[in-house]
Amino acid sequence: MSGVVLEASDLYRFYHVGEEEIFALRGVSLRLRSGELVAVTGPSGSGKSTLLNCVAGLDDPDGGYVAITGERISRAPERVRARLRAERVGIMMQSGNLFPHLAVIDNLRLQQRLSGKKHLPAPEALLDRVGLGHRVQALPETLSGGEAARAGLAVALSTLPSVLICDEPTGEVDEANETAIISLLKRAQADGAAILIATHSPSLAGKADRILELNDGAVA
Ligand code: ADP
Ligand code: MG
Repeated sequence: MSGVVLEASDLYRFYHVGEEEIFALRGVSLRLRSGELVAVTGPSGSGKSTLLNCVAGLDDPDGGYVAITGERISRAPERVRARLRAERVGIMMQSGNLFPHLAVIDNLRLQQRLSGKKHLPAPEALLDRVGLGHRVQALPETLSGGEAARAGLAVALSTLPSVLICDEPTGEVDEANETAIISLLKRAQADGAAILIATHSPSLAGKADRILELNDGAVA
């Protein structure tokens, strides 16, 4: 199928905690085309973060497979996964995606260098776009929650990824920052990124082309 940049098929993920078996994902499939924005919703513990980690190649599913622009990232050696992530996937996770000892602009430079891509937008211009033109030399710990979220998004977008994956990008920010983040995501979508977002925010989910609702590790 043309334009499919993210394909996940029949994903399973189990955790063992003591005697207990936790079924975090049970047979989830999804497919995103270039320029599509899909929201993953569902209650806490329904498997949203596990799904995003698996499709981003940060975690490996116990069953099923994930391909990014036609290349398998699941069950691939870490070296291959790291290359695919750096080249093709922008990741904004809840725990943050900024190296604490690097200034904001150096976080962007590092991400761009790791991607191995040439002709990427200038980090200054990207930070301007997210409203952080005056904070380029700031260390992450000095940023407010909203600034940190926008900086994290700038890092994720700095390599012009085919696939952008965001875990609750507006979870910790005020309304003005949420509005700013939504418009940045819409712009990335218009530029052709396929975007997968886990969110509890009705206003963000309302901007999605489709909603994938999870319940207890399966599509509801
Ligand atoms: P959500 O993001 O929707 O809140 P998660 O993907 O974080 O859901 O979690 C799905 C289920 O998997 C939950 O029951 C959670 O407790 C469990 N889980 C997630 N990560 C781990 C882990 N590293 N070890 C054990 N259980 C986990
Ligand atoms: Mg989560």
